[in-house]
Amino acid sequence: MALSQTEASEMDQQPFSLLAGDSLPFAFMALHTPEPAPPPGLPEARRDAVAPKMTFGEACEECLVHPSQTECTICISDLCSHEIVRTLPCQHAYHASCIDQWFARSTLCPNCKTDVSDAKHAELL
Ligand SMILES: [Zn+2]
Ligand SMILES: [Zn+2]
Repeated sequence: MALSQTEASEMDQQPFSLLAGDSLPFAFMALHTPEPAPPPGLPEARRDAVAPKMTFGEACEECLVHPSQTECTICISDLCSHEIVRTLPCQHAYHASCIDQWFARSTLCPNCKTDVSDAKHAELL
């Protein structure tokens, strides 16, 4: 590590080498350090079971949404009664399109961090 830092600082002091093509591969590699694999989200096949899709109006009527929730905390927009939402086991609701993007990366409720992937209520519905 110390060696490569020395090389980098030498390059900084030699603007000419930045113009030369031979410094580009070094910069390219520095930008592409390997990243750890992203944590698996919630598979699409499981989403309907743990977070069923319905309109926000239906969800409210069936008391699947906490009465205090009036907005989607992912996009910070009001939830309208005709909009399609997913209701999570923790009584939090989000636009289906918003939570689907979230579930691609995470299985936690963005609001209360409940892990919906092991929700027991899926069998109760
Ligand atoms: Zn939203
Ligand atoms: Zn929640």
